[in-house]
Amino acid sequence: MKRDQVVFDLIQKEEDRQKRGIELIASENFTSKQVMEAAGSVLTNKYAEGLPTKRYYGGCEVVDEIEQIAIDRAKELFGATWANVQPHSGAQANAAVFLACLKPGDAILGFDLSHGGHLTHGSPVNFSGKNYKPHFYGVDEETGVVNMDKVAEKAKEVQPKLIICGASAYSRDWDYERFREIADEVGALLLADIAHPAGLIARGLLRDPLEYCHIVTTTTHKTLRGTRGGLIMMRGDFDNPFGIKTPKGQLRKMSSLLDSAVFPGMQGGPLEHIIAAKAIAFQEALSDEYMEYVLQVKKNAAVMAEAFVEKGYKLISGGTDNHLMLIDLRNKDLSGKVAEETLGKVDITINKNMVPFDTRSPFVTSGMRIGTAAITTRGLKEDDMKKIVELIDRTLMNHEDESALASIKNEVNEWMVQFPLY
Ligand code: PLP
Repeated sequence: MKRDQVVFDLIQKEEDRQKRGIELIASENFTSKQVMEAAGSVLTNKYAEGLPTKRYYGGCEVVDEIEQIAIDRAKELFGATWANVQPHSGAQANAAVFLACLKPGDAILGFDLSHGGHLTHGSPVNFSGKNYKPHFYGVDEETGVVNMDKVAEKAKEVQPKLIICGASAYSRDWDYERFREIADEVGALLLADIAHPAGLIARGLLRDPLEYCHIVTTTTHKTLRGTRGGLIMMRGDFDNPFGIKTPKGQLRKMSSLLDSAVFPGMQGGPLEHIIAAKAIAFQEALSDEYMEYVLQVKKNAAVMAEAFVEKGYKLISGGTDNHLMLIDLRNKDLSGKVAEETLGKVDITINKNMVPFDTRSPFVTSGMRIGTAAITTRGLKEDDMKKIVELIDRTLMNHEDESALASIKNEVNEWMVQFPLY
């Protein structure tokens, strides 16, 4: 077969883009070569519907071993007692939990998308908002922090069957213990979606959701630095509260409902090449080197947040506990759209983001979200964070000056060459 040069040339172009720029998208990272090698391996050829040793296809002895290693490592990394490593993505991990726990039309309570929540936590454009009855909690306007008394009030009012904590653009840690008290009071199950800070949680740098939440979902490609994918976990199995029984009349365990919700409920064959890549990433995340990495991610974010504040930028909640920050650009007279486009011109990649109580549309927004997971993998340290903030500020303050932007772009590209990638 002739090599498809068109696609490979574009892949090379994307690699060059990643190498020359400063990557600040909070949900992105640079995974290792061995993770990519597994993701591009012969395992992509194999069908393996079912779970290790209980498959609907022959020839699964090898992928059984691989998937079991991925499950065992996920459990070790997070202190879970049960894990399903098959969800193709974070959205599908959440969809599987909803399918296992809810009936169509059931009430759910999630973090408002416009305050930093995720589409899969009840947005009307997503399955979670279309199939279920979504309600939301948010942050207080003055503090930018989730007000737990208001969460409790809302839960009592709407009587959700499932409460979801976790977010895509929230820079503070979560009070899982209080969320569990609230869930217990209204008879709801509690799901923590830790897609963003998973790596920091795994290594004990943030509170442990598995201690209090019935179910925890995550992606594997953000701070966790693995391949793109999803994961569902629990610490302690329990009888499902919905009365669903096995053929022998016993109550089915939650783990069994979740496994069935992933397959055959949500997905067909698992991606064993991606599961192998997840297994490798979990092993990497258990290493001392990774511990140093997540410590640096957190330090870098704290220094960067401080540097933005010193330059007069307004951070939602005033700072960060994790790897990301959400910046309100209204006092700088800039929209998120202009910031994203202008920074793009100098090869600094961020994303525009709604800020709580935003009056602009999601296509324009008043904020930008910035994270340190990718640049820390690249090897940048605290002093470099100050330099990045200086570059961002200079770019935004000169957003209509094309020659100033061209010279900043050169500066960015020359600087990034000093941090080799792959
Ligand atoms: N949950 C949260 C909190 C996220 O931030 C994201 C992705 O940004 C997802 C779920 C969805 O993950 P995926 O893009 O892998 O479907």
